[in-house]
Amino acid sequence: MKYILVTGGVVSGLGKGVTASSIGVLLKACGLRVTSLKIDPYLNVDAGTMSPLEHGEVFVLDDGGEADLDLGNYERFLDISLSKNNNLTTGKVYQAVIERERRGDYLGKTVQVVPHITNEIQDWIERVAHVPVDGTGSIPEVCVIELGGTVGDIESMPFIEALRQFQFRVGSGNFCVVHVSLVPVIGAVGEQKTKPTQHSVSTLRSLGLNPSLLACRSSEPLNQSVREKLASFCHVAPEQVLTMHDVSNIWRVPLMLQDQGAHTTICSVLGLGASAPKIDMQ
Ligand code: ADP
Repeated sequence: MKYILVTGGVVSGLGKGVTASSIGVLLKACGLRVTSLKIDPYLNVDAGTMSPLEHGEVFVLDDGGEADLDLGNYERFLDISLSKNNNLTTGKVYQAVIERERRGDYLGKTVQVVPHITNEIQDWIERVAHVPVDGTGSIPEVCVIELGGTVGDIESMPFIEALRQFQFRVGSGNFCVVHVSLVPVIGAVGEQKTKPTQHSVSTLRSLGLNPSLLACRSSEPLNQSVREKLASFCHVAPEQVLTMHDVSNIWRVPLMLQDQGAHTTICSVLGLGASAPKIDMQ
């Protein structure tokens, strides 16, 4: 099983969900079986009790699970059917650990964020990744994990730590990090600014996760010089810096990733001998 973690930096609502689903589409087009998991670091057990004005409409899954609308993106983009376990929240993790503690499963031990919460997160990810989702009954080959929120948030720290440990649990050739960040355009000259991305990559790296791809959200395509600057400051090659500019229709995003060869980097990091992608957006 191969895992792709999609994190976000600078601000929320950047397009992590769209990026994660699009990466899934690209890998599916390479002939791989893809599943996905959305992590929401809030304390609500699920999105069912949350105002749609705050997080958008709740998406109801086949098993009745009420989840973030990103799960809807995954189902539509990847033509898969997910369950409530494909949406992991802080509330669900704590609920599972506290229920276990009440049953006495920890045998008198002090129950702590590390290792009990972080282990529960890792076990959950591994379990859900192996559940067939495409109706064929076959176990997926790749699991795209989207971590909601922004790196550096207090709420997401247990998940970041769990994922840091997880990369060693699954082995380096089985884990790839994609960081979605913002490249704002400032001033009348329209200069694309790299500093927010530099800082968010540095935060991510200080937490033990090294991105293999930077997906840079901006209003216009990135200039080559900006791409090279980001590469040199963020410890990646220029071809690992992707431009994810605004498009009129989000169904164009998988093609944008394909044109920039995102699948080549992902497949080489994960040691996947995938075929050339043939994206069918019908
Ligand atoms: P996040 O998961 O980071 O909160 P979403 O994936 O939900 O963000 O995207 C936030 C909004 O941005 C959505 O309305 C989505 O359609 C839009 N969006 C994402 N990527 C692009 C893009 N490249 N061009 C235009 N709109 C985009």
